[in-house]
Amino acid sequence: RAKDDGRNLIRFFSEAMQAVVAARAELELKLRAALACNGFRLYYQPQLDRNGRVIGAEALIRCFDAEGEMISPAAFIPLAEETGLIVPIGEWVLETACAQLRAWQRTPSTAGLSLSINVSARQFHQPDFVGKVAAAIERHRIRPGGLEIELTESVVIGDIETTVLRMRQIKALGVRFALDDFGTGYSSLSYLKRLPFDQLKIDQMFVRDMEKDTSSEAIVRAILALSRSLDLKVVAEGVETAAQHELLLTRGCELFQGYLFGRPVPIEDWKAG
Ligand code: C2E
Ligand code: MG
Ligand code: MG
Ligand code: MG
Repeated sequence: RAKDDGRNLIRFFSEAMQAVVAARAELELKLRAALACNGFRLYYQPQLDRNGRVIGAEALIRCFDAEGEMISPAAFIPLAEETGLIVPIGEWVLETACAQLRAWQRTPSTAGLSLSINVSARQFHQPDFVGKVAAAIERHRIRPGGLEIELTESVVIGDIETTVLRMRQIKALGVRFALDDFGTGYSSLSYLKRLPFDQLKIDQMFVRDMEKDTSSEAIVRAILALSRSLDLKVVAEGVETAAQHELLLTRGCELFQGYLFGRPVPIEDWKAG
């Protein structure tokens, strides 16, 4: 009967929804446990210049649960942003990255390396974010020119003036900014003109499709031309093959990051310098 079918459907959906809610609650618990019990790690992926020299790294977070199982940031960053846990997690990233940068800066062979961290919109817009960055720089006594903050376009949600002001305050400390995942957002061009970025990162989607798809290749070329006229450096993300690297070199790309050169690794396995 129709009425029973309806009831079954409702039960089916409510069970499915409960499963989703339970999975999210479990993940949130794991994040809280990782915060309390030292369950986060930073992995470091090299960035290279046109001569193949390692000039720095991007720090990428990993979470390990109580069983030692790794949870990827793609799986937990969105929930961390929703719950606000991204704020303490992001503070841990800033601390850990600054400590590592300090270690590099006091060793002559690694003193010139830069280190990029990813900062979520929600973290960036915390009222005391500028102060936190300034305090971390001072506490770890790093030369701030080695620190770079990667933001995505989502950082401009809301008021662009506030974002520009905040970026200027942080730039005044000596820290640089990169626009991550460039080409995947909506308003790239109008924002790009107003926000004081130093660097663009071409999203790996375009790099991946560059050879087989002429529109991706055209987009890569357009981004490189645009960045030259705006005096921005460009990092190509997700470079996996020698052919992609070759093509990017030909097009004038200056910096490279991807599995071709190195996967993200824990600091014990970091060999470049
Ligand atoms: P992202 O910042 O765009 O980082 C680049 C992602 O591409 C990383 O994934 C990296 O491991 C991956 N990747 C690098 N080279 C290659 C390649 O050649 N091929 C392929 N297929 N992938 C490559 P990961 O580490 O899983 O991080 C995913 C995203 O999570 C990051 O994207 C970033 O948006 C976010 N994330 C990572 N760490 C943090 C963090 O500390 N804070 C915040 N707020 N977000 C983070
Ligand atoms: Mg990034
Ligand atoms: Mg990216
Ligand atoms: Mg990304």
